[in-house]
Amino acid sequence: MTATPQYDVVVLGAGSGGYAAALRGAQLGLKVALIEADKVGGTCLHRGCIPTKAMLHSAEVADQVREAGKFGIGATFDGIDMAQVGAFRQGVVDRLHKGLQGLVTSRGVTLIRGHGHVVSPAAVQVGPDLVEGANLVLATGSHARSLPGVAIAGRVMTSDQALRIDWAPRQPIVLGGGVIGLEFASLWASFGARVTIVEALERLAPNEDVAISKALERAFRRRGIAFKVGARVEGVSEDGDVVTVTLSDGGRLEGDALLVAVGRGPSTAGVGFEEIGVQMDRGFVLTDPELRANVPGVWAVGDIVPGLQLAHRGFAHGIAVAERVAGLRPPPLIESGIPRVTYCDPEIASVGLTEAAARAEHGAAAVETVEYNLAGNGKSQVLATQGFVKLVRLVGGPVVGMHLLGARVGELVGEAQLIVNWEAYPEDVAELIHAHPTQDEAIGEAFLALAGKPLHAHA
Ligand SMILES: Cc1cc2nc3c(=O)[nH]c(=O)nc-3n(C[C@H](O)[C@H](O)[C@H](O)COP(=O)(O)OP(=O)(O)OC[C@H]3O[C@@H](n4cnc5c(N)ncnc54)[C@H](O)[C@@H]3O)c2cc1C
Repeated sequence: MTATPQYDVVVLGAGSGGYAAALRGAQLGLKVALIEADKVGGTCLHRGCIPTKAMLHSAEVADQVREAGKFGIGATFDGIDMAQVGAFRQGVVDRLHKGLQGLVTSRGVTLIRGHGHVVSPAAVQVGPDLVEGANLVLATGSHARSLPGVAIAGRVMTSDQALRIDWAPRQPIVLGGGVIGLEFASLWASFGARVTIVEALERLAPNEDVAISKALERAFRRRGIAFKVGARVEGVSEDGDVVTVTLSDGGRLEGDALLVAVGRGPSTAGVGFEEIGVQMDRGFVLTDPELRANVPGVWAVGDIVPGLQLAHRGFAHGIAVAERVAGLRPPPLIESGIPRVTYCDPEIASVGLTEAAARAEHGAAAVETVEYNLAGNGKSQVLATQGFVKLVRLVGGPVVGMHLLGARVGELVGEAQLIVNWEAYPEDVAELIHAHPTQDEAIGEAFLALAGKPLHAHA
């Protein structure tokens, strides 16, 4: 006789992917256990999205105070109070953490605190307790990687430590020109630092459209943020307050802090996944498009599944898995339809294919693009920001990619993702009215241009 499992679903890890699976599962009437070794909310809430965005907001305020005179407001910039920056950041995190814990309880999810070890496809050991479920959702998330030979200690840090230091680096070096590196470079520059970014690939924001990278590089130059692209790190040493980075081209950089932002690896070692036969690749859990691992009853969500490491992807994974367990049939996620935002100044927002990816996928002749410069957008002029909207469409067909650069354009990604994911035709979007004066109007203008009837743009 087989014993009935205690739960319909056992979720291992309460980050974005895991807690979304738990909340949606409970909403659908499933009996859910959520196992968490640290804090509900995971990386995003405690060490990722939210604390970095709080600090980036402090950075934006610092810039606004410095530039207040330009807008006719008398103000003097007296410096950064890092203790208060930290208090503001922690206040935001704490409020959200409290709210999330309340949500988990009110939905009837059983939260089990402790480190879980998977012992079978239907059971997780947490201390002395065996938590059994008909389905197991693996959601153990990711951790910051370093480079071989670069130890994280002292002034050599990852984003985890960089968020916690109570001092503002004056001359930081940032290894990595991807999302996390760009965000820290931007906020430290706003705090008054002389920042240098080192990126091994040929451009900053290497996963974005080339036009975005080039314009971002110009904007960073204007902000005094230095960068070396195509540069590989040979060695790192620390002597007192000075960190020295040697580069493969013989170059040498000195700073008072080094942020290693070279990517995040899956946190899947030593928790029993391989032992129960889960197929893995370099630590990532391999799944089918519906997020089932190769072992029946086992699912995976979030950063441990190869692809974009973003909180909203984790939420979508978690919701979809819970629905499948409950017998619903949500469609598989289309990875390129996931909106992406980098919250540096200026912000980058994108969804869908870059021009290069669209050409590779559909052939160069099938791809048409248009760029609308924010110079023609009234609200962007009021905000004194520069940038553009770039549309990528298939000739005679739908829009397959949208790429934006400029202050606050992250808030425009909602419309961009509707257009791309609904496979809208430019002619259809050009008929929609965008309120004046908003930055959103720049999207409308780009579509008018693509439909052959630009309004505030030279034809
Ligand atoms: C600096 C930084 C900034 C970021 N900014 C953004 C952003 O602006 N927007 C965005 O979309 N994404 C952002 N991200 C990425 C985002 O944080 C991740 O994509 C998201 O947190 C992944 O969710 P997850 O559920 O897969 O894993 P995680 O959030 O990492 O959660 C995994 C959880 O599992 C727990 N756990 C692991 N192993 C065990 C075990 N054996 N037993 C019990 N519990 C365990 C961990 O304690 C953790 O709480 C950022 C990340 C970083 C580092």
